[in-house]
Amino acid sequence: MFGQLDILPPDPILGLNQTFQQDDNADKINLSIGVYQNAQGLTPIFTAVKKAEQQLLAAQNTKSYAPQAGDPSFLEHMTRLLLGDELSEQLQDRVAAVMTPGGCGALRMGAELLSHAKQNVTLWVSDPTWANHYPLLQSAGLTLEKYSYYSAETHSVDFTAMLESLQAIPVGDVVLLHGCCHNPTGADISPAQWDQVISVLAERQLTPFIDVAYQGFGDGLAEDAYGVREAVKRLPEVLVAASCSKNFGLYRERIGAVMVITQDPQTTLAAKSHILTAARSSYSMSPYHGGGIVGLLLSDPELTSEWKTELEQVRLRMNRLRLELAEGLNQAQSRIDFSFVAESKGMFCYLGIPLEVVHALRSEFGIYLLDSTRINVAGLSQENLPIIIDRVSEVLSR
Ligand code: PMP
Repeated sequence: MFGQLDILPPDPILGLNQTFQQDDNADKINLSIGVYQNAQGLTPIFTAVKKAEQQLLAAQNTKSYAPQAGDPSFLEHMTRLLLGDELSEQLQDRVAAVMTPGGCGALRMGAELLSHAKQNVTLWVSDPTWANHYPLLQSAGLTLEKYSYYSAETHSVDFTAMLESLQAIPVGDVVLLHGCCHNPTGADISPAQWDQVISVLAERQLTPFIDVAYQGFGDGLAEDAYGVREAVKRLPEVLVAASCSKNFGLYRERIGAVMVITQDPQTTLAAKSHILTAARSSYSMSPYHGGGIVGLLLSDPELTSEWKTELEQVRLRMNRLRLELAEGLNQAQSRIDFSFVAESKGMFCYLGIPLEVVHALRSEFGIYLLDSTRINVAGLSQENLPIIIDRVSEVLSR
């Protein structure tokens, strides 16, 4: 049965990480991974999350299945986190949320819902987008097309091209938008640009599918939800995939939520039933542990405020690092103006250096970034920043 199978290549990001692990350069630096790291290079558990987990375990007296849609407290508080208190109360019976295994599970279940709702759905993704969007969403039967987004020349969003591209999308298609902290470029659209994008979606009757994997990593929890909230206020139907991997640091617990907002309670119930049916025919029941932690944390004002403070420190640390990288590179070389690095949002940013420079950094100095030039800003530290600035400038100035 399996003898005829070829060994498939690893996922490019995970594969590069393996190459890094095998590199025996003692000074190697990994900027390619997709997890937050603190100044010591560790991915710690948030103190508030640890406390909530301890409380959860102390109170738990069964491992029986939780409700299929997920822990009710988690679902209520995730909806509030994404939509804000006012909107989530206003729209109560028009919003449905289902707990999923990670943001990937939410994306996949959202894609399944789209496939159930319409045959041959075309989903438009930004050029570029997170590489895993393709296999994840195509596996649910969606056809993926690209809309213009990032300009390598200006190192920023080419907003005119983006709008033109969105305006040319056939009526009724679906558009995947990054809620904040665009992965891989770190280049986000502003609130005023969100307003314009939503106007085009309204005119062309396009449904947004908003991927929110980094809420709180960009400008703040509410600020990072601007696009989602405005879309929900102004459009009849919105689909959201949220992840708790980064902002709660719950990566391995695999916790996220898919949220659907429609025009009337009946349609929302129908959409939810299709998500649950899709889940039942793949992993059946949602995981519990991570959602239990988040539900407990967000229903406790003290833990919530502690978590918000910790999240803010994470965000500010990344902002400092990106500023120091931009300033350091600008002082050390003159070939590229790296000021755009300081403007980027979230955990990732394109460095915009030639591919041969990326490869030289890897082979000569053991500095790993993706071929696309994406770096993980959280992989920078006071120790490795001077080295990175020195090596990048050296190779660029050859
Ligand atoms: N969307 C984007 C853009 C991401 O970067 C990620 C995580 N790398 C996810 C979704 C989903 O992450 P997870 O399944 O680990 O929650």
